[in-house]
Amino acid sequence: MKILSVNAGSSSLKFTMFELPAGNVLISGNFEKIGIGNSFYSIKLDGEKIVKEKDLKDHSIAVSTLIEELIDNKIVNSLDDIDGIGHRVVHGGPNFKESVLINNAFLEEFKNCIEYAPLHNPAHLMGINAFMEALPNTPQVVVFDTAFHQSMDEEMYLYPLPYEWNEKYHIRRYGAHGTSHRFINKTISEKLDRNDLKVISCHIGNGSSLCAINAGKVVHTSMGFTPLAGTMMGTRSGDVDASIIPFIVQKENKTCEDVLNDLNKKSGLLGVSGVSSDFREVQNGINEGNHRCKLAFKMLCQSIANYIAMYNNMLDGSDVIVFTAGIGENSVTMRRQVIENIKSLGVTIDEEANGKRGEFVLISGKDSKIPVYVLPTNEELMIATDTYNIIK
Ligand code: AMP
Repeated sequence: MKILSVNAGSSSLKFTMFELPAGNVLISGNFEKIGIGNSFYSIKLDGEKIVKEKDLKDHSIAVSTLIEELIDNKIVNSLDDIDGIGHRVVHGGPNFKESVLINNAFLEEFKNCIEYAPLHNPAHLMGINAFMEALPNTPQVVVFDTAFHQSMDEEMYLYPLPYEWNEKYHIRRYGAHGTSHRFINKTISEKLDRNDLKVISCHIGNGSSLCAINAGKVVHTSMGFTPLAGTMMGTRSGDVDASIIPFIVQKENKTCEDVLNDLNKKSGLLGVSGVSSDFREVQNGINEGNHRCKLAFKMLCQSIANYIAMYNNMLDGSDVIVFTAGIGENSVTMRRQVIENIKSLGVTIDEEANGKRGEFVLISGKDSKIPVYVLPTNEELMIATDTYNIIK
């Protein structure tokens, strides 16, 4: 089956087409600056990347261009050759616990989820509508970033806030990166040939979250009601005392939204280093002796280590720790420092193995009490696989 995995943002549309069940990529690409001028798209095919300028007025034009490219490049002969489409959706609210087939009932219910991710969910809907118009007879599936975390127990997802807030407004921990954590759990379980693993999955990228998983069930995850919570990130603060918000509102004569924006977009690595939200830039700053870059690095590693230690406790001991995503897959220094910061758990490093990047590798020492792996994530494949399983 030829399955298209789609991630639509407000001005972008990323896609990967897979052949399933084999899982090989047929073509991938990205439409950028949709509806905001100077739009263009890139296509990756047979290891080559081509970039083309194109006036992409809206998502429908991006979708029709994508279909033309699929046909021109002989990936499909006609629209009928596209067997299914899987859409990534950031937030499924309290009701969506797994991936679902799109139909009218879904579209009606999804309206109730918009408020949980007011920036992302409307953009996903634009993408879904554009594909529904272009391919009305092709089955389409939604894969939620929050769904995996719906398996958390009540005492883990509730906040110690007035109970009615959850009853009235569904204020609770939803988490994010669920598709990535589910991929990591599934893949490491297959590789180690176990289905009862206690996994600490560390998705460390521009946005970062950790997830404690016991035999496929989420015990806890670090992001919360929104992706602002948890570890320190590229531009997001992670967990902070909420009292800081009204304090800064008053001191700087800002609105609550302004300060929330500061916590989401001007904090984390960027806020502390003052240099960049990009880990590589912060690393360059450290190499040049920049104190604030060094501080940002130390704070990032400590906040990741703290979650690992907490999750090891929540799991009553873990079987495996896995690093993934941009920083997790690539940063030798971050992994070294985090492992140093959790040495009280008996974790040790294999320096040579840790020198590898972007591949599946065991990086802990032979004497480590918990094995630590690097495993590249593949959310697109997970989305395509769910779509395949649902429409099959
Ligand atoms: P992601 O959000 O998963 O795409 O991850 C983005 C983050 O990964 C950015 O902070 C990048 O600086 C970081 N990153 C990407 N490649 C590397 C690398 N080779 N070494 C260190 N960090 C990297």
